[in-house]
Amino acid sequence: MPTLHKLAACLIVIAVVLGLTLPRAEPERQGRAADAAHAAQRATASPGTTARATPAGNTSPTALPTVSPTAPVKIGAATPRAAAAKANELGEIPVLMYHRILKKPTLSLDRSVDEFRKELERLAREGYVPITAAEMVSGRIDVPLGKHPVVLTFDDSTPGHFGLDEQGRPKPDTAVAILLEVAAKNPGFRPVATFYLNEDLFQMGDQAANGLTWLRRHGFELGNHTVSHPDLSQLSKKGVQKEIGGMESTIVRLTGTHASTLAYPFGSAPGKRSWAQRKDGEYDFRGIFLAGWKPSDSPFDKDFDRFAILRVRSEGKIKENDCREFCSTAWLDKLDKDPDTRYTSDGDPNTISFPSADEDTLAEGYRPYGRSY
Ligand SMILES: [Zn+2]
Repeated sequence: MPTLHKLAACLIVIAVVLGLTLPRAEPERQGRAADAAHAAQRATASPGTTARATPAGNTSPTALPTVSPTAPVKIGAATPRAAAAKANELGEIPVLMYHRILKKPTLSLDRSVDEFRKELERLAREGYVPITAAEMVSGRIDVPLGKHPVVLTFDDSTPGHFGLDEQGRPKPDTAVAILLEVAAKNPGFRPVATFYLNEDLFQMGDQAANGLTWLRRHGFELGNHTVSHPDLSQLSKKGVQKEIGGMESTIVRLTGTHASTLAYPFGSAPGKRSWAQRKDGEYDFRGIFLAGWKPSDSPFDKDFDRFAILRVRSEGKIKENDCREFCSTAWLDKLDKDPDTRYTSDGDPNTISFPSADEDTLAEGYRPYGRSY
């Protein structure tokens, strides 16, 4: 059955190589910025945009710089407010993975408009605040005291995610429109998300440049999901670079900006991870997302691997694919029941607060920001 095949393929989860890959600020490379600026001039983006390309992408925040201390760093004391809120910035962050959003779902990975709205309302009610994938991998997590970051990711740039009507507003019942509605009713719930794009951009045709520009201007992140959605594990180095580089050049041509993050089609990594991470003059990602079965480690955790970030499929507690335990409803239930495992903000994006028992979990490069209680 093709549906089951697709599902099985989409849920391929590669073995995670746990390395001590600490996030670092990427050096800016002039050649690439110049290439991108040139591309921006040729871009058909709507007039008035002042897109400026940088390797890390315009939508990408400046990374919280990691430090290589020469002497052991003593962890400071958390503020009483952070301790009272049980801040835990070494806790887990759910990165939710959505595919098609439709009024009437037809495939197993689809979610209905109604299910999507309800999931967002639940997130708002339980104190989650959306951040982008780029913000997460950069360690720029700016959510209020006591709140929990969540990353909303959408794969395959299908029309149920986004479109613009005649007046230039998001089409009703698209993921973007619903997210904006829920945010309007829930102050503090940021309407941001990350879209992993393939060559067919929301079926927008010659309006794609306008569409992508609209998304970027409204704080949405545009990520790379390859040109034609192949299984990268089956391709040569050249094939991998062509698929990723081709999509990247489309994104740069249409927006004047590079993507900061990539999601592997089917969650499937290429023969060598480095093929997907960077190609001189073409792409240079700060983070790569897989499919997955559990929330991600905090980016400040020493085990966090920014090139193998786990995501959780959005789905109820259905039997299929162990969703009773490993999809979004099940995980949100677990995090709600066991809040100590979840990332809870100290309200200050420049400090990393956590219970003192977890001190050894903090990545070395982030120790100067550490505050325990
Ligand atoms: Zn996909």
